[in-house]
Amino acid sequence: MKAALLLSNQHYGRRDNIYTEFSIVDVARECGIHMKDPTRREIRCRCPFCGNGRGELAASINSDKGLFYCFRCDEGYNAVTLYAKIYGIDTKEAYNELLKIAA
Ligand SMILES: [Zn+2]
Repeated sequence: MKAALLLSNQHYGRRDNIYTEFSIVDVARECGIHMKDPTRREIRCRCPFCGNGRGELAASINSDKGLFYCFRCDEGYNAVTLYAKIYGIDTKEAYNELLKIAA
């Protein structure tokens, strides 16, 4: 069963192309990313691109800023670009899919 995504109550606008309508934690959970302690503001997690299956927590999710960042890949994503990258779709498609899931 799919968990409904909670809409973020933070509004930073679209500056830097950061979509804050979606909770990065919920999107990460939806994508099956293993998080160490999802209740913290700064959450250590596995990177789905370089660390999955190795038990390493090379990445971090900042729930305040709505960002995912992997220290090994040196790559950062917001909720929408993270979802897009994982599923190999473009950000517009990812955005629409997240809207559907959140509805
Ligand atoms: Zn990585």
